[in-house]
Amino acid sequence: MKYFSKKACYAVIILFVSLIQTYSQNQNSGLGQPAITPTRSTELRIFDTPFVVNTYEQQNGAKKSPITFIVLHHFEQTGLNLVKDIIKQRRSGRLVELVSKMEDKPQRYLFFKFNEKTICVDPNRIFSEVGDWETLKKDHQTDTENGSRLSDGSFSTSKCENKTISEFRDQNNPITKQVLTEIKNFSENLKAVFLPRRNDEIVVAVHNNTNTAALWSDTSISIKEFVQGRGGDAKQTEAVYIFNEQDLDNFFIVSKRRLFDKLFQRDRTFNIAIQKQDPKPDDGALSIFCGLKKINYINIEAQHDVGKDRQREMINTVFDLFPPR
Ligand SMILES: [Zn+2]
Repeated sequence: MKYFSKKACYAVIILFVSLIQTYSQNQNSGLGQPAITPTRSTELRIFDTPFVVNTYEQQNGAKKSPITFIVLHHFEQTGLNLVKDIIKQRRSGRLVELVSKMEDKPQRYLFFKFNEKTICVDPNRIFSEVGDWETLKKDHQTDTENGSRLSDGSFSTSKCENKTISEFRDQNNPITKQVLTEIKNFSENLKAVFLPRRNDEIVVAVHNNTNTAALWSDTSISIKEFVQGRGGDAKQTEAVYIFNEQDLDNFFIVSKRRLFDKLFQRDRTFNIAIQKQDPKPDDGALSIFCGLKKINYINIEAQHDVGKDRQREMINTVFDLFPPR
């Protein structure tokens, strides 16, 4: 294993003397399509385009799980189906699913109609004003490969017509402002559905990525992206722990050192990035929003399909570490 910061070394030394045993509850099941139905569905709109937000909540007895899973990229179905399966098995936990479909196929982006054009935004970039603006003016073409690889049915981002609206080049243009206000309202309404009400609760984002072919690739993400001098996410990262024998595509991002400590005590084979306490730049990602608001946040990233078993372990580990109470 390698350490990429002195602070990470310090954390590890402390953890060697405070290692705790926790009960492992690895449950196996056939994965098929989990038969679980939403306990609540909310419809949120961007202009006239509706998006369904499904909540799946399970509770067994008086104790309630402090965990809310959130899946923002609907086409990342590996992780989404795992969470549905696991909360059903455990009869515990809450999942919020943002549905985005075109022609009944799950999508990465939110596609909405504005002035008869199709505009798309990344739902994991709409948690700040600068993020809203960045994703609105982007053409998303660089993400096409990622958009089509994860799920066979994913729509091509060539449908995104953001760049054809010249007003979007100016953040202060009244038309741009109108669209940004609409995106912001959507984001606020979405947050109202999934954000915890108590500060001892935890938000767990679940994502899938594709195999990291190149260190600087735009279309895939791995733990290497968080290493100083190597990747774009390093600026917002305090420390990175990488276990050499583990697939780099499977990793956690945590918003607090305390969350790293819990995961590391449990299993030293996890790759983990610790986000800075004052993460900058703010790109509108949910991780940055939660970091700035001091919300407990864990991101479970795993490679689509082949990372499924590891992602199941990661989800179960988080469940074990934050039991119902
Ligand atoms: Zn994602």
